[in-house]
Amino acid sequence: MNATSAPDLILENAKITTLDRAKPEATSLVVKNGRIVGVDDAEEYQRGPNTKVIDLQGRRVIPGLNDSHMHIIRGGLSYNLELRWDGVPSLADGLRMLKEQAQRTPPGQWVRVIGGWSEFQFAERRMPTLDEINAVSPETPVFVLHLYCRGMLNKAALRACGYTKDTPNPPAGEIQRDGNGNPTGLLIARPNAGILYATVGKQPKLPPEQQMNSSRHFMRELNRLGLTSLVDAGGGSQIYPDDYAIIEELHERGEMTVRMAYNIFTQKPKQEKEDFLRCMKLTGPGKGDDFYRCNGAGEMLVYSAADFEDFPEPRPDLPSNLEKDLKEVVSLLAANKWPFRIHATYDESISRMLNVFEDVNREIPFKGTNWFFDHCETISDRSLERVKALGGGIAIQDRMAFQGEYFLDRYGSKAAERTPPVRRMLDLGIPVGAGTDATRVASYNPWLSLYWLVAGKTVGGTALYSEANCLSREEALMLYTKGSSWFSGESGKKGALAAGQLADLVVLTDDYLSVPEERIKSIESVLTIVDGKIVHATNEFASHAPPAIPVLPEWSPVKVFGGYGAPLDVRKAARAGVPMPQHQHDAEGHHHGCVHAGHQLLAGIEAARNRYAGFFGSGCDCFAF
Ligand SMILES: [Zn+2]
Ligand SMILES: [Zn+2]
Repeated sequence: MNATSAPDLILENAKITTLDRAKPEATSLVVKNGRIVGVDDAEEYQRGPNTKVIDLQGRRVIPGLNDSHMHIIRGGLSYNLELRWDGVPSLADGLRMLKEQAQRTPPGQWVRVIGGWSEFQFAERRMPTLDEINAVSPETPVFVLHLYCRGMLNKAALRACGYTKDTPNPPAGEIQRDGNGNPTGLLIARPNAGILYATVGKQPKLPPEQQMNSSRHFMRELNRLGLTSLVDAGGGSQIYPDDYAIIEELHERGEMTVRMAYNIFTQKPKQEKEDFLRCMKLTGPGKGDDFYRCNGAGEMLVYSAADFEDFPEPRPDLPSNLEKDLKEVVSLLAANKWPFRIHATYDESISRMLNVFEDVNREIPFKGTNWFFDHCETISDRSLERVKALGGGIAIQDRMAFQGEYFLDRYGSKAAERTPPVRRMLDLGIPVGAGTDATRVASYNPWLSLYWLVAGKTVGGTALYSEANCLSREEALMLYTKGSSWFSGESGKKGALAAGQLADLVVLTDDYLSVPEERIKSIESVLTIVDGKIVHATNEFASHAPPAIPVLPEWSPVKVFGGYGAPLDVRKAARAGVPMPQHQHDAEGHHHGCVHAGHQLLAGIEAARNRYAGFFGSGCDCFAF
């Protein structure tokens, strides 16, 4: 065998979950030209001078995770501007981060926390108050988005937005007022989240070069958590092709480290059909390559079909023009064999959409056109059967992990038991993909989502589902890999570690299959490989890590705090100058007695790292109330 036919990469001495039925477990993998070429037969390959061989030291390896519903193309443009409360264990930590960031944010810029958290994840189990937000940032504008329920503005942000006593409520939202009619700073998504979208839109954007840097950091953050693929669901005010210029440039430069298939969101109210016709001239399903490709239309097809999940508020009744609007657009898509996805939370909306789909299908058969619903928290058995009959799929996300408590309050535990009914979907043989819907409601962390599927609990630890609607770890992983690959029409190409498939895989900090259930939430990757190349490496594999890239702008919260679980990483906290005392929750009269593993980490004791990670969520007494 000569050097050119030698493999590029050999991974050996691992516990590999292949998700390939023919060979479910293996100890080695061989990679060449971005594909898996050998499974469990590494010794049969002759190594060339350029063959990289890595001993995985008994670590668990899984196929790269694939989020079938995320808003990364939009989210990447502003990732570096956002302070993330994702995974922050207490409100006190969150406010401390806010204060630190406000002090380093230059005039004219904002501090923004754009979703990805729930107050139930906090030790205090409550929202911040407006007084608290004003106290930590008297001068710098602050916007804190809480799900698609409300937004909190400090006084400086109210001034920057120009919201005063004289500002009327917009049609799509409520500006809360005090007794004198002055805005308090609280924005309420009533009747819908329009005012929250609009307020995000008032905040400064990054220049293009920094948007590129920001998107790269977001991809790296996802790689750190084991994600190698996703399907992008467009987003409100995400215009094709203008708002795709950054990701297309990164694609051209070969700087993408997560594969993306993108769906095109409806562009303008009342012009939905015209806009899709325009987009159809510019791109088409499958156009692109394995890193970046068009996946059709959605998740919003027409504005009249948007049923936001905002469980503190009653279910919205969609307008009567939904059927007419949707039929026009779906007929156009079906006639052009454009795959489509559609956002739908409630069965009351889903059953009306299905009426339209069945109607169109009689005239223009869907056969051969990949289509699916997103979310489906309250879909009925009858609707599931109709989805099955029409050959559709369902992409589910852990939105309930962030707002299940609100759903329980309004609808009760019986109704919550199957939100969504994952087990029933699988029993019916409907294709199911897993994901998060990040970044504005749920966090992008796939391990929270896998935990939610397996344990049936929210990030606040509230049990939502009976055993029957919870999945085994293998089933959950299957949905997050093979399952999701169906949603971009790439079944068989990725999702399993088998000869011929794309070489996308992850080596884990902890063994997903055997670690205590609560620890699933804190799993990360120690080595992530996309297209046969190492895109993330840490711990014992740190010497393989790709070169670091700077974080722009200089004052970016990402530079000091990074992404998910920032205060859990004392290195980040130390860099940010955040003091890390013995963890205490005085407000709750609760003191934390255990040795703070973070201090040991600072002293370089690696073993403490996993203990510290386990501290998040439940591992520690701290969260026992
Ligand atoms: Zn949606
Ligand atoms: Zn979405």
